[in-house]
Amino acid sequence: MYEIVWQYDETAPFADDGPADAAAARHMLRQGNDAFARFFDPHRAPGDLTRHIVRVSAQDVGISGKPGEAPTQEPFAAFLSCADARVPVELIFGQQANDLFVVRVAGNVLGDECLGSLNYAVEQLGTVRLLAVLGHTGCGAVSAAVDAYLTPTGYLGMAANRPLQAIVNSLMAPTRGAALVLTAAHGESVKTLPGYRQALIETTVVLNAALSAATLVHNFHDALGERLQVSFGVYDLRHRTVGLPGADGEWEVGLFQPPTSQEGFSAFGHRVAQSRLVREWLAP
Ligand SMILES: [Zn+2]
Repeated sequence: MYEIVWQYDETAPFADDGPADAAAARHMLRQGNDAFARFFDPHRAPGDLTRHIVRVSAQDVGISGKPGEAPTQEPFAAFLSCADARVPVELIFGQQANDLFVVRVAGNVLGDECLGSLNYAVEQLGTVRLLAVLGHTGCGAVSAAVDAYLTPTGYLGMAANRPLQAIVNSLMAPTRGAALVLTAAHGESVKTLPGYRQALIETTVVLNAALSAATLVHNFHDALGERLQVSFGVYDLRHRTVGLPGADGEWEVGLFQPPTSQEGFSAFGHRVAQSRLVREWLAP
C-alpha cells in the first residue's frame, strides 16, 4: 500500500517558513519532486506499506487563528502549468496548501488572463520567490497543435471551435520552432520517420515552456533579482520527474532559468532536438 499523508501534529507545531530567495525555492521544489518520483517503487515487496508525509502547518490549513478566520495567502512559488489531470502540481512537488499559486490552462499557454493572475501573485503576495512554467510530456493541447501543423486540413475542422483554435494558435510558434530545430539537427528526412510526430510533440512541449518562461522574464523584468526569478521545466509522466534535457542530452532533474536571447534559444533548441527524450522517438 502507498500512502501520501498530510500531517499536522499539534504536539510538535511546524512553522512553514518560506524560502528566502529563488534558489532556495527551486531547491525545495526539487526535493519535493525527488521524493515524489522515488515514492512509487516497482521493486518493493507486495503488501509493503510505503508512506510519504507532507508536514502541514496550522496556519496554512486555517486552524491557527480565531475560529472562522481565513489564513493569509502566502505561496512561495507561482506556477503556469497545463490543466492535464495527470499533472497535479502540489502533489508532484510534495507541497501543501498555501505553498503554490497555480494557474492551470491547457497547453500552459500564456494568455492575458494567466499573465494577469501571475501578476497578481507577484504584486499583491509578497511571498512569491519563483515564477515557474511547467509543461509535461505527451501534452494533449500540444498534440492538437502539432497535428494542425502537420495536417493543415485538420486545422479547418477547428474553425467552428474558436476556444480550441485560440489554444492551438498560441502553440503554433513553438511548434514551428520545434519543426525547424528537428530538421536542422536530423535533416529533412526526419519528417519521414514513424516517430516524427511524437518527437515533434515532445520538442514543442519543451520549447513552449521555455518560450512562456522567457516571456515572463520580459514581463516581470523590473521585479526580478535574487528574491524572485523565473524558471521552467517539463514533467515526465513516465518517470514522475520534473526536468529538462541537459547539456549531455540526458534528462536533468530540476527547474531551470530560460534562455532569453535568440542565440540562447537556438542553442537550447538544438540541445532538445539531440536529446534522449526526442531521439528515443526517432530511433526506438
Ligand atoms: Zn497538457
